[in-house]
Amino acid sequence: MFIDRVELEPDELPKYWYNILPDLPEPLPKPMDPTGGDKIRFLEEVSIPECWRQEYTDERFVKIPDELRELYIHAGRPRPLYRAVRLEKALKLKKVKIFYKREDLSPTGSHKVNTALAQAYYAKKAGIETLVTETGAGQWGTALSYAAKLNDLNAVVFWVRSVYTWKRDRRTFMRLYGAKVYASPSKITEAGREGLKRGEKEGSLGLAISEGLEYASKKRNTAYALGSVLNHVLLHQTIIGLEAKEQFNKLDMYPDIIVACLGGGSNFGGISLPFMMDVLNKKKKIRFVAAQSEAAPNLIKGTYRYDYGDVAEYTPKLKMYTLGHKTRMPPIMADGLRYHAAAPIISLLRHHGYIDALAYPTDEKSIFQAAKLFTETEGWIPAPESSYAIRATIDIAKELDKKGEEKIILMNISGHGFLDLYAYRKKLFAK
Ligand SMILES: *Cc1c(COP(=O)(O)O)cnc(C)c1O
Repeated sequence: MFIDRVELEPDELPKYWYNILPDLPEPLPKPMDPTGGDKIRFLEEVSIPECWRQEYTDERFVKIPDELRELYIHAGRPRPLYRAVRLEKALKLKKVKIFYKREDLSPTGSHKVNTALAQAYYAKKAGIETLVTETGAGQWGTALSYAAKLNDLNAVVFWVRSVYTWKRDRRTFMRLYGAKVYASPSKITEAGREGLKRGEKEGSLGLAISEGLEYASKKRNTAYALGSVLNHVLLHQTIIGLEAKEQFNKLDMYPDIIVACLGGGSNFGGISLPFMMDVLNKKKKIRFVAAQSEAAPNLIKGTYRYDYGDVAEYTPKLKMYTLGHKTRMPPIMADGLRYHAAAPIISLLRHHGYIDALAYPTDEKSIFQAAKLFTETEGWIPAPESSYAIRATIDIAKELDKKGEEKIILMNISGHGFLDLYAYRKKLFAK
């Protein structure tokens, strides 16, 4: 019998996250504050204290508290690693093997639960009662609502109005966890009212961040939670790659190529960084590939410089590959990939030549074709974002196989597409 998946037992769940900061080829540039420190102090005040500490820690391995490990296990971790034998067969591959990590098997449908649970856990420990955030596509808002509820906290979500209006089922999802969900711009914050006055009816991620930060700063025992880009978010996400490493150990194999989609960089960092450790410290050779959209090709068309994280310039400036914080990006179905900049850690590694990137056209035709082939062969429906990783993996696998190269590819399935069937219908079946 051929078993096409590798499991870890619950007690094999990693006990530490991997912090890459001390292993980077040069120290990570510090945040910069053109206003002389106010923005950094403001962010610190509204942050979860332990997350703020982790943001700059130089411990190589950060202990995952036992109670949090219990929450991870309850949420279905460790997640399986699958060998895509059926997809390989459809592609007629002879030499190349494809594996995929199952972050789609998460309670809210994406890898974002990994950091949401950690942030909610630390917030609860610190006596915080309410977590506030912004959401664009809705995946992060759902994950935080879930994590807050399981830790007996309130959640408040400012959701970009243009998406809030049509994704009604995802709104129901958040409300099932008791979250308060506001369409942004809202009337309950100064930033929201100003936005409405300016006629910004649709809203934007930047405006939603501004609303959330303002709301959090004015309420007692309230903190702001961020779902990507920051160092502590990537730290929490390394659970993905750490598990995958154990799973490859069991197979006595090791990946040659790692592929993940990249918006801000949290799922890409999550699966890659634990392997990057071997590249930086043990001279292993791995090709890391970030799959992006031409709507937001921050690693490809961006420049490596200091820029703000949000449109309203509430955050300090971070050194990252950026398209510019005021750049308008065309709408795509894989909304989670529409961010103007890539995480500082990923950007630094890209700058030093450790990361490749590809971008696919905004019509997303080739993306949904890859998603369909994956669904037909493997049977799991991927999120539109994850389908970029599938597209890139298929293209790379075919090319290497043609050259007769015996390579192992690992890709990350960052989420499922159950709540994106509308996008599938539009892209594949609607006339
Ligand atoms: C948010 C999201 C992404 C993009 O965010 P990253 O921080 O780049 O990982 C990708 N896939 C899914 C399913 C998401 O929810």
